[in-house]
Amino acid sequence: MSDKKNQKGGEFLLAAGDADEIFTPEGFTSEQCMIAKTTEDFVRQEIWPKSDKIEAQEDGVSQDLMLQAAELGLLMADIPQEYGGMGLDKASSTLIAEKMGMAGSFSVTLLNHTGIATLPIVFFGNKAQKEKFLPGLAGGEIGAYCLTEPGSGSDALAAKTTAVLSEDGKYYLLNGSKQFITSAKWAKTFIVFAQVAGKEFSAFIVERETAGVLIAPEELKLGIKGSATSGVIFEDARVPVENLLGEIGKGHLIAFNVLNIGRYKLGAAALGLAKLALEHAVKYALERKQFKKSLTEFGLIRKKIAEMTSRMFVAESLVYRTVGLIDNALEGIKGSDGETSLKVLEGIGEYVIECSIVKVYASEMADYIVDESLQIFGGYGYSQEYPVERLYRDARINRIFEGTNEVNRLLIPGMLLRRALQGGLPLMQVLENLKNEVADTSTVGEQAAVGEFPWYREKLEGARKAVLMATGLVIEKHLKEIGERQELLALLADMIMEYYALESTLLRLEKGSVGIDDWRSQALLNYFPAAMSRLLVWGREVLGVVVAPVQLAERLAQFDKFCRMTPFDTISVRDRLAEKIISVEGYPKV
Ligand SMILES: Cc1cc2nc3c(=O)[nH]c(=O)nc-3n(C[C@H](O)[C@H](O)[C@H](O)COP(=O)(O)OP(=O)(O)OC[C@H]3O[C@@H](n4cnc5c(N)ncnc54)[C@H](O)[C@@H]3O)c2cc1C
Repeated sequence: MSDKKNQKGGEFLLAAGDADEIFTPEGFTSEQCMIAKTTEDFVRQEIWPKSDKIEAQEDGVSQDLMLQAAELGLLMADIPQEYGGMGLDKASSTLIAEKMGMAGSFSVTLLNHTGIATLPIVFFGNKAQKEKFLPGLAGGEIGAYCLTEPGSGSDALAAKTTAVLSEDGKYYLLNGSKQFITSAKWAKTFIVFAQVAGKEFSAFIVERETAGVLIAPEELKLGIKGSATSGVIFEDARVPVENLLGEIGKGHLIAFNVLNIGRYKLGAAALGLAKLALEHAVKYALERKQFKKSLTEFGLIRKKIAEMTSRMFVAESLVYRTVGLIDNALEGIKGSDGETSLKVLEGIGEYVIECSIVKVYASEMADYIVDESLQIFGGYGYSQEYPVERLYRDARINRIFEGTNEVNRLLIPGMLLRRALQGGLPLMQVLENLKNEVADTSTVGEQAAVGEFPWYREKLEGARKAVLMATGLVIEKHLKEIGERQELLALLADMIMEYYALESTLLRLEKGSVGIDDWRSQALLNYFPAAMSRLLVWGREVLGVVVAPVQLAERLAQFDKFCRMTPFDTISVRDRLAEKIISVEGYPKV
């Protein structure tokens, strides 16, 4: 990891980033590559041959694979060494998540377990709880996380499950029902959220054998069929007071903090799934002949292959940039006591905006990739005989759990504004400076020459100003009731995400001094103009809503200049990129 200054969360929008300060996949250490290889070998050799059994939830199959994963150390990356874990850096555990993304349903079983089912104890458990539960969780005893209820999903704090302290003060009586709980029927431990005294949202560790814990019938789902999902019902379940996790009334800290980690790992897993879909699509396109040509010879198929690669490359850049920021923030924090755990959470929580971006961007990227991969397979893509049908169904859940993409979109500008208003980010000052600059647009022109990165730097700066200008205008008009202006917030979220995507990718290329003819540069060359067009469309919509009609023409002229790009021959760029991807039959190793 870099020892340079770490940007604060959300700061990427306020000042141009520095290539030296970001982490990129080109910087993986040999240990990290080994972990990635171990995971990928496990997926290909152990999980794929059992796919049908996993999909059918055949007894013992997923549980045995979890034990095997534990033996390989894949369940213990985020668990401190003194409790049977490996306490690895986050880039390593994210690489595990990425490679597990190729494992279909089983990836949900494993990542749910290592994430939201284990981390609450890692971060909030006391010594006795860690000693009691973490070795088992690291060793493959499956855990579950029970937050969602029939009446409360996104609005998680409105949970109705109650926890009432017994008269002798020895246990809590839990009553209520949880909905859509991953691995419920296999779990030995459940992290359960409930209201104490009716309103103090709190978390408990509930053991499987507790009387009064009932597992509802299995949900029949669209995808990830091999991941068990069902309701969990608590009927006077007696939970010893020792199993209260953290403090009474502080359950929200547990519920939301671990979700940040879940979000960047979900992004990585979506990336792994997308890479696999591309590999299938390219291999199929090479074999399949129509009109006496292989599909890879058709311009429209080549365009799909190039476009998929571009979006994947961008997603990969922003996933690992974010993980690098987190690893830098955690550097030097050692130990596993309560205070240290809170410092770790604070370090990760600093990047809540970036974590949400990763989640939304990568899950939507993956949905696009599986859709296009299926299209390349034509009718066979729709058939269960071929692998993309399942990838298509499996990918869809990623936009729903770990906070829906709507909720995460609202969080991105919402958190940025909150930090600005609390004095944590100098957003208002930056907006004020920009206002003066906008008045003089003479410095923002058309590009001088296509193909040189310094030129992209200039366009990127335009993109940043475009996002800031739109943000500033929304704040000016709607600050007081901003929470009620969801559509505007979502437009800002899309613009902020697109800027983070562009910057992360350009900085990655700059850091690696990647030549313009390299496939990675072609990926960005293809992506850049389309991203600028999206910014233009989103920003114009924002301006149309918030700027008074008499000022609109002038403001639009200023705004458009930030985003305008002279078109160039993107078809040739895509063709070169597709050629590379076809030649290596999938996403190239970086
Ligand atoms: C396969 C699967 C596995 C799951 N595993 C777990 C698990 O292990 N543990 C667990 O606790 N939960 C789990 N969940 C639950 C999951 O986290 C929730 O489904 C999710 O949080 C959304 O809640 P909901 O389904 O009640 O939808 P709702 O919250 O009712 O949302 C419905 C729609 O309204 C939108 N919406 C909601 N609020 C707002 C708002 N304020 N503004 C704008 N739009 C809004 C949503 O984005 C969504 O599009 C799982 C779900 C599934 C399907």
